[in-house]
Amino acid sequence: MVTPSERNNVAIIGAGIAGIATAIRLAVRGYHVDIYEANSYPGGKLSEFRLDGYRFDAGPSLFTLPGLVEDLFALCDEKTEEHFVYHKLDKLCEYFYEDGTAITAFSDKAKLIEELHKKTDEPRENIQKALDNSATLHKYLGELFMSRSLHDYRTFINGTAFKAYVKIHKLDFFRTMNRANESMFENEKLVQLFNRYATYNGSNPYKTPATMNIIPHLEYGVGAFFPAKGMNDITQSLVSLAERRGVTFHYNTPIEQIILTGKSVTGIKINGVNHDYSRVVSNMDIVGTYTRLLPQLPEPTKLLNQPKSSSALIFYWGIKQTFEQLDLHNIFFSRDYKKEFAAIFDEQTVSDDPTVYINITSKYKKDDAPHGCENWFTMINVPNNQGQDWDQLIAQARASIQTKINRMLGINLAELIEVEEILDPRLIESKTSSSFGALYGNSSNNKFAAFLRHANFSKKIKGLYFCGGSVHPGGGIPMCLSSAKIVDRYFS
Ligand code: FAD
Repeated sequence: MVTPSERNNVAIIGAGIAGIATAIRLAVRGYHVDIYEANSYPGGKLSEFRLDGYRFDAGPSLFTLPGLVEDLFALCDEKTEEHFVYHKLDKLCEYFYEDGTAITAFSDKAKLIEELHKKTDEPRENIQKALDNSATLHKYLGELFMSRSLHDYRTFINGTAFKAYVKIHKLDFFRTMNRANESMFENEKLVQLFNRYATYNGSNPYKTPATMNIIPHLEYGVGAFFPAKGMNDITQSLVSLAERRGVTFHYNTPIEQIILTGKSVTGIKINGVNHDYSRVVSNMDIVGTYTRLLPQLPEPTKLLNQPKSSSALIFYWGIKQTFEQLDLHNIFFSRDYKKEFAAIFDEQTVSDDPTVYINITSKYKKDDAPHGCENWFTMINVPNNQGQDWDQLIAQARASIQTKINRMLGINLAELIEVEEILDPRLIESKTSSSFGALYGNSSNNKFAAFLRHANFSKKIKGLYFCGGSVHPGGGIPMCLSSAKIVDRYFS
């Protein structure tokens, strides 16, 4: 615990999920924490909005590793279930292919293997092997890459690291995810299904290392979950927890600069006025942190210039019909996955046959849509913002998504849409200061990517820390919560 003289001295820039989690951890340590948020609401990407009787989660829709949220309640000696209720999903996702094949990904492993075998003829042992491979990767690398700093030599000389060194031949650093999946599966539908996990951190399965096959284990091994009040309740329940621990949230308060004196943090600038703090944690995207808040420091250009992850284009549609064949998470695959990723990452444009993800929370939370209706969060992966003509690409994407869904579900979608809202890379950038509107900071399209993310602390400036999706260990709610855990470990 800190001594009374050190109190009242931590500023966190940004009330994204990582900033909120960091605030809780530091408040538990005894610090007085102020969070400054540019928006009028908390959560950054993890927020919600309402539109004519429909509720939509604005950003994330898949909730994995809930233990990281539970940790925060436990740290505060509170019972999670009294403040944040969530359920494990029996069905992880409904997959639809252009040839009419429909596959349900069950969370129960035996049922999953049977379903995948029945629908694709893939030998059961290949499926089991792929799931075991993912579990092995998680066992040896999960703790190392997610819960520890890669910028501290001690991470590499402990028992966890030595166990991974012994299994290095199994960790698949040297081929791509697609190569590994092609070697594991005979059926190309399963290659596509397992390649999809590269998109969970905004990467390209034809470039990202096969080590990323760690991701399926999060769903098939640990599970996927649904917060009873929607994804936004992750934010809301943690904001309330932070407030109960004395954290103060300052909304509509963009930070203009981090003040340094010599090699130490001494404050932040708000509206031209300096406020004293001896410790500052930035939850702002790392590129903006350096270019906008720390103009007095040389930029770590190699780290800042790493290629960024993909972004997303989302159509929030209120649909005046319900669909029995759809569940919470639904994927309508493109015909040619390789071409789709070449469009996103090489040509920096929107594919003319994008894989379409539809998330429908009203399947589980009935009041998210009027009776007889559904709230469709309809998302495709798109390149990050490089100044493309987004208005033209949005019109093109709307048309190709509707044509595809009409063909695959046998409907006329345009007639069923009664409300529409759109989120594109430009808006993601302007609403959350994420550089280029990337969803997950840097992409993981090469084997050194994990080591080229910025550390969670500054080795040069005393009192300066970083959390959130653009720094180690990366984007996605679990990674952001882990970044808060790592910041906490290095706080002094
Ligand atoms: P952010 O959410 O990026 O928020 C940063 C906050 O800092 C913002 O509120 C911003 O206003 C504030 N800020 C920035 N600069 C300043 C400043 N100078 N002063 C004051 N405030 C400032 N993850 C999953 O786990 N599952 C998913 O299914 C999933 N799907 C996604 C779908 C979409 C469409 C998007 C956009 C993201 C998705 N993600 C998903 C990723 C996930 O949302 C992010 O990785 C995570 O929420 C990022 O949290 P963060 O803490 O880095 O902060």
